[in-house]
This record gives sequence, C-alpha cells and structure tokens, in this order.
Amino acid sequence: MSWDKNRVRVNAATRWETISCPVCNGEHFIELFRKLDEPFVRCTGCGLVLINPRPVYAHVLETYDSDYSQTYAGKAQKKLRRVRRWVKRVRKAYVQQGRWLDVGCSVGFVVLAAEEAGFEGHGIDVQSWGIDYGSRELKLERLRCGILEEQAYPADYFDVISLYDVIEHVPDLNRLVAELKKILKQGGVIDMITPDIGHWRVPGALSDWQEIKPSEHLYYFNKHSLSRLLARHGLRIIKYRFGIKPVLKVYVTHAHN
Ligand SMILES: [Zn+2]
Repeated sequence: MSWDKNRVRVNAATRWETISCPVCNGEHFIELFRKLDEPFVRCTGCGLVLINPRPVYAHVLETYDSDYSQTYAGKAQKKLRRVRRWVKRVRKAYVQQGRWLDVGCSVGFVVLAAEEAGFEGHGIDVQSWGIDYGSRELKLERLRCGILEEQAYPADYFDVISLYDVIEHVPDLNRLVAELKKILKQGGVIDMITPDIGHWRVPGALSDWQEIKPSEHLYYFNKHSLSRLLARHGLRIIKYRFGIKPVLKVYVTHAHN
C-alpha cells in the first residue's frame, strides 16, 4: 500500500470535523501527540484515545481498501486457518448454529469459515472489491457492499456477529453499536477484536505503537472505554480472551440476558 499516495488523496478530498467523545459525550480532550498532522487526544471524561479533529475521507475508501483487500487475498490460506479457529471458539463456547454476520468482511474468509462450520454466513463491507472477489471466487451468496446501518437487517436476526479489526475504523460508533444491539438475537453473541491501548505491551511512547494509524484507526480502546460504549446501548462484555499481543478480544451479548 502506498500510504503517501493515499494521503495526498485524503487531503485533497476532505474536510475536517470535531466530534464529542463517542463513549461519554465529553468535550474535553488532552492532546497526546500528532502524527501526519493529525491530533491524537485523550478524553478527560473516560480515557478514550481518538483522533480529534479528524479528516472526513469518504471519497478515498475505495482506493485505499482495494489495495488492502488485494493484500488480504494474497495471504488467503494463512488468514483462513486463523479465522477457522475463531469460528471454532465461538461454536465451542456459545453458539453452535444459526446466522453469522461478519462486519467488515473484506473478501469473506470469516463468512466462508462460518459456512464450513454449519452457519448461514453473511458478510458486509464498505468497499466493493472484496465483496466482488468473495462472491465470484469463494462463491459466497450473502455478501453485501455498504454500511451496516443502511442494510435494514431485521431486528433479533443474527446468532453471531463478528467485527475483527473493524470498530476502530467506523466514523459513527454509536450508530453502529445501536444497530448491532438491534440485529443481535437474544442469546446471541458478538465476537469483537480491536487494538488494546491498555495492554502492558503498548510502548510508553504511544506514537511509536504500530497501531497508531492516522485517518485509519480513529479510536483506541481499553477495557473500560469499550465496555462503557457497549453499555450505552444495552450490551455487555461476557468474556475477555487473553492476548499476548496488545489486542482486546471480547465476547459481547445483551446486557439483560
Ligand atoms: Zn469520553
């Protein structure tokens, strides 16, 4: 991926926006550092780290993500082995069958692994290259291109929803989480993975952390800020999976299950 090329496009195509904290609605932030001119700040109310103000870059998604997905497809076998393990974990601990939706599915390996395991696999992604590839090459029939909240999936519909390295990219977090809550069945589970800024292996000089990605990773959660965001929408974390890497791996369900 040529980051510089995309940066030029970002700057040419966008405006900037300032947001209140998506976790606690706070308006007060402390600037930690800047990277590629983007300010990384910490909310004084809840500790969430985010880029704010941030560039609005709707017009570059396609360019950027097509590079990403082509790399992803190139590592197919390794990726597929990994996501099969993730699907197996969910089956073993929580849900054995039903509908599985992978949000940010790229070419659809998670959807494929879910189908192999006996689920009805669904996938959605904002960029079309991966969806086209997965539909054509992997013969996946339920992939959609677009934004989750605009799909009008029925309420109480999915037994499993996975978001692997997705939530940190999503501009409107509360809209996303509200939709997850709506479409997740009672007794269903959300499997979520996102970088963990609270992990002991995150460098003291935060700007050196490899997950710090201007324009791309908009938020950096720890256990506290992620569970608080979910709680706003009636969801709760039921289990943290231990990780040797600085990654939050959580299973989530309805708060009143
Ligand atoms: Zn906050």
